[in-house]
Amino acid sequence: AAGRILISACLLGQPVRYDGKGKPLLHSLIEQWKREGRLVAFCPELAGGMSVPRPPAEIEDGLNGEDVLAGRARVLELTGGDVTAAFIDGAGRALKHARDNGCLHALLIDGSPSCGSLAIYDGNFNGVKHAGNGVTAALLRSEGIAVYAPAQIEDLAANLF
Ligand code: SF4
Repeated sequence: AAGRILISACLLGQPVRYDGKGKPLLHSLIEQWKREGRLVAFCPELAGGMSVPRPPAEIEDGLNGEDVLAGRARVLELTGGDVTAAFIDGAGRALKHARDNGCLHALLIDGSPSCGSLAIYDGNFNGVKHAGNGVTAALLRSEGIAVYAPAQIEDLAANLF
């Protein structure tokens, strides 16, 4: 069977982001993979029980998803709410969904405290990013799933089987 790809639901245009919008990735590979039945859409934050819309959230203190999974950092909303548990729960559900659907690769939107895999915001809600993984990207990577950002879609295509 063709290799399947777990994909951030918002990248397919599903209106699941904190601001109630999607962020569709317009690329011929997306259309090709849709036709081939490779894409498995998933939103870790919705799966973890978050609603739409929701306040923006960031991982605190310039830390990253690995720190959240290890209990060293929290995920906090701009409004002060602690959503750490929901983010960890959503990451676990993303991993299970990937495994249940045979996804060895994931294409996740960058910059998100869940899905980011190249850079994430630093926890100060001032638009500053640093290199690092969101919570779901960190968990998937630690479990051997290859995570790609949209900027790396050609690399994903080259490594797909
Ligand atoms: Fe998109 Fe991931 Fe955020 Fe869901 S958690 S809205 S899939 S970036």
